[in-house]
Amino acid sequence: MIVSLDEPIISMEDRGYQFGDGVYEVTKVYNGRLFAFAQHRERLYRSLRELRIPAVWTAEELQQFHQLLIAESGIKDGGVYLQITRGVAPRAHNFPENVVPKLTMSIRPAGSANASLRETGAKILFAPDERWLRCDIKSLNLLGNLMAKQKAKEAGCFEAVMIRDGVITEGSSSNFMIVKDGVLWTHPLGNLILKGVTRTLIVEKIAPELGLPVIEKAFNTSFAGGADEAFVCGTNTEIVPVVTMDNNPVANGQVGAVTRKLQQAFNKLIDIECQR
Ligand code: PLP
Repeated sequence: MIVSLDEPIISMEDRGYQFGDGVYEVTKVYNGRLFAFAQHRERLYRSLRELRIPAVWTAEELQQFHQLLIAESGIKDGGVYLQITRGVAPRAHNFPENVVPKLTMSIRPAGSANASLRETGAKILFAPDERWLRCDIKSLNLLGNLMAKQKAKEAGCFEAVMIRDGVITEGSSSNFMIVKDGVLWTHPLGNLILKGVTRTLIVEKIAPELGLPVIEKAFNTSFAGGADEAFVCGTNTEIVPVVTMDNNPVANGQVGAVTRKLQQAFNKLIDIECQR
């Protein structure tokens, strides 16, 4: 069923609404085609497994739903938001039995805000990572992320990059990387960060193709302070260069050459996959 975005379709006792008991994905659409859909789908299934929410939609069905939204909306460049909650049940903390998960999806055209930041670079703020310890699950519980992002906004920054136990984890809605002495550094995978699809493409495909060594190891803000370049990356963000961190310029405060190369290679990936 396709409805207008403002139609009331959520039940009061949907567990996503009451507990944030659900997961989500955002997949970009370029040129009317889904980008990196297989990776988003696999991460969605993993998030569902980790929370023991039954995956009642096949990979083919999920793809068809995405394509239906693209076709019906006529949107060529945008983002598809997908959310699956455990379903509707009388309010109780334990997982209810025999409930059917609830899937909702929406599509919106791409905004233009990030496009200019990809060129000029952005400011980031360091903020404490106050989230839970399963940041690897793309769950609907985003309050820690929202509070960090709001701090960044109030400080005139594009993104909050979070610190836990003295090390940099990730952005509130992005992964964070630095370039230092010709090496790309980023926090290792595990329960403290989301395995970003964009991060994976950069670490496993783009960096090796550019001959850029990658070190997935935790580092602190003073190490990052000595970086030659820094950037945040994500599905909506793509690759946004970071030019100041807590108001301190990154190197000379200009967008770095390696970041530009990564952006170009990332755009090429989109061009190929989405026949742009
Ligand atoms: N980390 C967090 C906390 C995020 O919310 C996101 C994206 O929304 C990312 C990283 C980047 O992930 P992806 O590249 O899959 O969009």
